[in-house]
Amino acid sequence: MEIIPIRPDDRLQMKKRHPCGGDCFRVLRVGASVRVVCETCGRDMTIDRLKLEKFVRKVLPKGESL
Ligand SMILES: [Zn+2]
Repeated sequence: MEIIPIRPDDRLQMKKRHPCGGDCFRVLRVGASVRVVCETCGRDMTIDRLKLEKFVRKVLPKGESL
């Protein structure tokens, strides 16, 4: 299985949308689980890292925009 490098401040475009309709999340903290904040509504959530990787479409390094 491929491991996706994820670092704090990276932005993630997800395959699964947040209930608010946004699909772009910013990474706050990375560990066994990852804390991300939705860029559309500002809500944060913690997701198991392995689960998160299945939903990531694209990782946008810090400073890069969609
Ligand atoms: Zn949202």
